[in-house]
Amino acid sequence: MKLRSTTGYLEVPAGAGRAVQICRGDRLQVIDVDGGQVGDLFAFATADVGEYLSASHTRTATGSLFPQIGDQFVTNRRRPILTLAEDTSPGTHDMLIAACDPERYRKLGVDDHNSCAANLQAALAELGLVTDVVPQPVNLFMNIPVSAEGTLSWLPAVSRSGDSVTLEAEMDCVVVVSACPMDLNPINGDRPTPLALRITTPHIDTEEIRAWPTHTRH
Ligand SMILES: [Zn+2]
Repeated sequence: MKLRSTTGYLEVPAGAGRAVQICRGDRLQVIDVDGGQVGDLFAFATADVGEYLSASHTRTATGSLFPQIGDQFVTNRRRPILTLAEDTSPGTHDMLIAACDPERYRKLGVDDHNSCAANLQAALAELGLVTDVVPQPVNLFMNIPVSAEGTLSWLPAVSRSGDSVTLEAEMDCVVVVSACPMDLNPINGDRPTPLALRITTPHIDTEEIRAWPTHTRH
C-alpha cells in the first residue's frame, strides 16, 4: 500500500474570500503571499453548517487566548474540526476579534465597504450553502496584543512574505478564508494583499487495494 497525495492551489485575491471543501485528514495551508496580511478563517461541518469552528469554545478547550502548534480548534458542539499542524510565521494569531462587517466600516465612517462577513456569505453561496451566522473566526496572522490591564491594540501583522499556517481537518468540513479588506486601521499594514490556499489530500492507492487479495494468495 502506498500513500499518495494530490495537491490543489487556490489564490484568495486581496480583500476577497474563498471556500474549499476538505475531508478528514486533508491538510490546508494558508499562505501570506506578500506578508502582513490577516486571514479570517471559518470552518463548517460538511454534514451541517449549524456546526462550525467556534473561537470561544476553542479558548475554553485550550485554556489560551492564542492558538499554538498542536492545538485543536473545536466547534460550537465542542468537537475537534481543525488542528494547527504547522506554522512558519512568528505565531501571532487572534481569536478575540469579530469578523469585520458593513456596520464596522460604517462606524469608521465608510459606507459600502467590503468585509470578511460579506466574503463569508459570498464564498459559501458559491458552494450552495447559506447561513445567517457569522462565527467568531480565527484571525490568522492578526496582531492584537492584550495588555496586563486587559486592553487591546490593533497592530500591523508581523507575518512575512511566504509565511504559512497548515491546518489538518479533523472532520469533513468547508473552510472559508477571507483576505481581510480592512484598510482603515493598520492591521494589514499599508494595504490589503492576497493570500493563497494549498490543499494536500493523502489517499490510499485504490488500484493497489484491489490488488491485495491477489498478493495475499502468494
Ligand atoms: Zn476583515
